[in-house]
Amino acid sequence: MNQNTNKPVRVRFAPSPTGRTHLGSGRTALYNYLLARQTGGQFILRIEDTDRKRYNAESEQELIDSLHWLGIQWDEGPDVGGPHAPYHQSQRKDIYLQHAKQLVEMGHAYYCFCTPERLARVRQEQQKRKDPTHYDGTCRRLSPSESALRVDDGESHVVRFKTPQDGSITVNDRLRGEITFENHNIDDYIIVKSDGLALYHLAAMVDDHLMGITHVIRGSEWLPTFPLHAHIIRAFGWQEPDWIHLSLFLKPSGKGKMSKRDSAQLMKDGFSIYLTDLRSLGYLPEGVLNWTALMGWSYDDHTEFFTLEDLVEKFNIDRLNPSPAAINFSKLDHFNGLHIRSLPVSDLADRIKPFFQGAGYDVEDDKLLMVTTLIQKRIVTLDDAPKMGGFFFEDEVHPKPEDLVGKKMTPAESATAAQRAYQILEDLPVINQETAEEPMRSLAEELGLKAGQLFGILRVAVTGRTVSPPLFETMAIIGKETVLARIHQAVETLSTMEE
Ligand code: GLU
Repeated sequence: MNQNTNKPVRVRFAPSPTGRTHLGSGRTALYNYLLARQTGGQFILRIEDTDRKRYNAESEQELIDSLHWLGIQWDEGPDVGGPHAPYHQSQRKDIYLQHAKQLVEMGHAYYCFCTPERLARVRQEQQKRKDPTHYDGTCRRLSPSESALRVDDGESHVVRFKTPQDGSITVNDRLRGEITFENHNIDDYIIVKSDGLALYHLAAMVDDHLMGITHVIRGSEWLPTFPLHAHIIRAFGWQEPDWIHLSLFLKPSGKGKMSKRDSAQLMKDGFSIYLTDLRSLGYLPEGVLNWTALMGWSYDDHTEFFTLEDLVEKFNIDRLNPSPAAINFSKLDHFNGLHIRSLPVSDLADRIKPFFQGAGYDVEDDKLLMVTTLIQKRIVTLDDAPKMGGFFFEDEVHPKPEDLVGKKMTPAESATAAQRAYQILEDLPVINQETAEEPMRSLAEELGLKAGQLFGILRVAVTGRTVSPPLFETMAIIGKETVLARIHQAVETLSTMEE
């Protein structure tokens, strides 16, 4: 079957907000979204918050903000509502309990009264014998009538799925094909905890069914419990969705998964795996989307620039790659640069502005537009903008005297060169590349200097720094009056320096 049969899908992104939003979550959300948009189907956001100890409301807000930032919108979800509300699993407790009961009645689940202490003992003994740890089935053997009585008596209990003990189960992953698991290797998983809240395994399967989910696109960390999920669905006699388990993300070195320590180190290098960090580091949502879309998917062997609309048109689940992908941050820089260069200048200026302000600059819009035009080709992140162009918004520059001295020149020679440049520039009606470059090159020649020597002196004089955007375009933005004042100041400084 080919995905592009245009049958509208119903897909969901079902995060458990317990921490910060990782780019892996962004990618899962993106692929689901693309499939929904492409087929004219629906994309659902479902918050899987049944683990109340780990749930964190701030994480949920961060997640929603991050998805909005990426430009991913959902058709049904906690904030927008929909025909299957509520979309927080914690508010669907009774639905899961009812289904758990149904499984017990059908003989596919049972009540378990084992205390945590007993379970710990069983586990220890199994570990001592070097057996795989699993539930030993004590309560599986209780008669249904005895169990029912104990439940009615109010004895603390959980509900476990009664995994068949013999035979095997074959499941189908769209990217990996058929996978067969031996049933005796699958534990009797808890599906409802003693507090009456369902666990992910039951809640997600029930919701996927009730919400009419046709394709489950999720991380490959769910492959080990995939057979359990198929068992649950089959026990109810429901139709299974198409299953797609995405590739894992590995550390940039390709060796293992990212740890917390790796993330801290990355941040020091100006990178992060968290979406809100990428945003504050000055990455564009367009760059991040393009980059993550290609971590595990390709259109062909050469096309690399995609907007969200392009992706909606071109995405194809059958071109997803199940192999683990090492995170490559230089590619992120590459894509970000491409998207920065493809933006209209005024749009880029609007996005750059908060970065200038964040760095403490008071920016005027007209000048910002000129500065943006000049640096658009040269910045990789928005955060580079104040580093590269902050001086445009400074009233004064304070070059280090030694930087003003031209390469292989004395201060006196440098002062003379700067003074001559001043005289020529002063006579120009305006200073820009067209008016100033040629006369400055001639001047360098006349003084027996390389153009770079003279330009170096002028650059430091005018910008206060040894590296800047192209000199004469920079002068055009700074304006003739200020340029001359700064060169004059440089001549003074150079004249008082000792040889
Ligand atoms: N709540 C699960 C998670 O956070 C969702 C897995 C799924 O998509 O089924 O990973």
